[in-house]
Amino acid sequence: MQAPAPLLNEQSIASSVLAEQIKMLMAQIPTSAVMSFLLASFVALVFGDLVEGNSVLIWWCVLSVLFLAQYILHINFNRQHSQAINYQHWFYAILVSAAALGLGWSTGLTIMLNGVPEQYHIFLIILLISLASAGITLAIRTVVYCVFQLGVLLPTIAWLLLQKQTINVVLGVFLIIFMVAMWLFAHQVSRALFNSFRLQLENQSLANSLKQSNARLHVLNEELTQLSATDSLTQVANRRYFDNRFVSEFSRASRENSALSMIMIDVDFFKNYNDELGHVAGDECLQKLAIAIRDSLKRPTDLVARYGGEEFIVLLPSTTVEGAMSLAEEIRIEIIKMKLIHPTSAVSSYVTVSLGVTGTYPGKDVTKEMLLKKADEALYNAKAAGRNNVKCEPLGADKT
Ligand code: GH3
Ligand code: MG
Ligand code: MG
Repeated sequence: MQAPAPLLNEQSIASSVLAEQIKMLMAQIPTSAVMSFLLASFVALVFGDLVEGNSVLIWWCVLSVLFLAQYILHINFNRQHSQAINYQHWFYAILVSAAALGLGWSTGLTIMLNGVPEQYHIFLIILLISLASAGITLAIRTVVYCVFQLGVLLPTIAWLLLQKQTINVVLGVFLIIFMVAMWLFAHQVSRALFNSFRLQLENQSLANSLKQSNARLHVLNEELTQLSATDSLTQVANRRYFDNRFVSEFSRASRENSALSMIMIDVDFFKNYNDELGHVAGDECLQKLAIAIRDSLKRPTDLVARYGGEEFIVLLPSTTVEGAMSLAEEIRIEIIKMKLIHPTSAVSSYVTVSLGVTGTYPGKDVTKEMLLKKADEALYNAKAAGRNNVKCEPLGADKT
């Protein structure tokens, strides 16, 4: 039986959450790389002519290479088999690429702030703020966003504060406040996501342990059903199981108009056996007889049950009374062949049985009780006729 699933510990939650975070961060790379490339191209086109030299073009080229590198990172990650992935390693790669991109943007924008006329500064600052805001999608893991945002804003903040013009210093201070506010916001977003991942994992783990418990319960149930249907001494079916099967086989036979037969078996002079050899030997003898009877049955639908004390009953669906007679004779011979010494039997030096056979086509004139009564009568006749033999008492008109 399977052991219950281990409960989730903090370490396994943290590493599973990290894996989910990396997958999500990697999944957004293609879209963000394309969007960023288009934006960088637009900025380079608009501001390229306003800045002297090729610095904007060089910046655009460097940034494009960075986008490409990020996309290659995404492709390589997707190529790995999920079991072999070292998520910590990929986390550092994402961190480095976020920092590089942030710095890439801010370097370019600072070059442009230096080069373009003052009236364009506000557009560039708005662009920076937009970039730092759009990067909030990286807040899946707070530190990734912080690194990107620091890269985007810090060089520009430093540049603004160094200008020593009031408006620039005010803008620089505003950017610092904005930066801190965004950190707090990113932290909240990241916490909410973490908790939702965690809930998902806990639900999954609960569902798994519920599944395992159900499977265990199912096995236990089957064992219990098996136990409640088995005779503890002989390991064949018990009386209760026989009664239930008898009801269902009787209904089936009357529905399908098929034959139903039974053999009642009683050990001869078993009281003497017990008295002579003891109860333990008597129990062992019953166990051997049960095995012998069970092994004599031919069809999977045939059933042997311990009917009481030293009596067994065999139920034979779709079997005519003639078939049951010949099987009863086989069982009798089989038991004699076992040569179980019986020191005090009046009929043989070995253990013998008497068998009463009956059979019918259950219809509206026949009841289960009548069938059992006939089997009992047949057994009584077998005993009366000297034991160690088979007698038959068919019930109603047998169609054979
Ligand atoms: P007959 O040939 O007429 O059947 O004689 P018998 O002695 O077999 O019949 P009787 O009904 O007088 O005795 C049945 C004996 O079966 C009595 C009891 O000691 C024994 N017996 C019943 N159940 C068990 C059991 O579970 N274990 C053992 N060892 N003996 C049992
Ligand atoms: Mg008896
Ligand atoms: Mg007996």
